[in-house]
Amino acid sequence: MRELAHKLLACLVLAALVGCTGSASSAQGNDTQVAPENGHLQVLSLDFSGTRAFDLLKRQVALGPRVPDSNQHAQCRELIADELAPYCTGISEQIFKRTVNGREYTFRNVIAYIHPNAQKLIVLAAHYDTRPFADRDKPENYSTPIPGANDGASGVAVLLELARVLHGRLPDDVGILFLFTDGEDTGLTASQMFCGAEYFASHMSYELKRRIEFGILLDMIGDTSLNIKPEKHSETVASGIYDALLELQGMLELSGFTDAGQYNVLDDHIAFIEQGVRMYDIIDFEYAYWHTVEDTVDHCSPDSLQTVGLCVANLVLNYASGRFSL
Ligand SMILES: [Zn+2]
Repeated sequence: MRELAHKLLACLVLAALVGCTGSASSAQGNDTQVAPENGHLQVLSLDFSGTRAFDLLKRQVALGPRVPDSNQHAQCRELIADELAPYCTGISEQIFKRTVNGREYTFRNVIAYIHPNAQKLIVLAAHYDTRPFADRDKPENYSTPIPGANDGASGVAVLLELARVLHGRLPDDVGILFLFTDGEDTGLTASQMFCGAEYFASHMSYELKRRIEFGILLDMIGDTSLNIKPEKHSETVASGIYDALLELQGMLELSGFTDAGQYNVLDDHIAFIEQGVRMYDIIDFEYAYWHTVEDTVDHCSPDSLQTVGLCVANLVLNYASGRFSL
């Protein structure tokens, strides 16, 4: 009922702006204010491009599996840094060693900022490494690294496009900390996964932690049949984020976020929650090709990247303008 009302209102307002000939996702332009609806949230006409994000996904997959300590992994870091360079400052690597599966790895988180000195920071995170084995595939494929189109490349692709879209649209006192975590998927068991997030979260200075308002983690958000649900651990600290994304999705006439059921996943967000940071894991955990060699480009879609990217961009800008708070 509430969603229907949102759609009708959004269509009426969009009709004035873009003729309501299609979804808001096709609307181009700058940060024109479109619709002060639903009490407080507002959708902006943003040029977030699912197509551009999908190209960034394909470019990562074309490198080959991005297993830590490999050349492809290093090339992915270069791709990330090159794409961020026009829009971000303070691009750096956080390097640390950790033994996983009996082997010592050198892991490297990639960090970048919009407005690094802002008093209020939002963390936008995704892992860029890919799993070194396809342990949910047929036994003959167990030792084959996964392509990581959805599990790895999708979140990174949306973050890179968000940097382009959000750059120049934030007030000076609101910044973004982009975090591309490493070693999320290297371990066989949960206790050996999430290495980069755990390292970053446990090494945050008090001063940095104090400035972080909340965070959003993107993981496996490129599935052609997008089915994101509220996530249990995230809900305990930041349920307002998901409610706002659902509301914005309705206003934008998009689909992919549902409020039916709940996921309960261990992921990079847990390390932040343990440090008192309100971090929400946006994930579609019903991906049939999870940790298989079939986690490929053809099982992902530009539309899914568009939905997530546009909703998250609008959430961030609603926060920046004081229309959303936690
Ligand atoms: Zn994974």
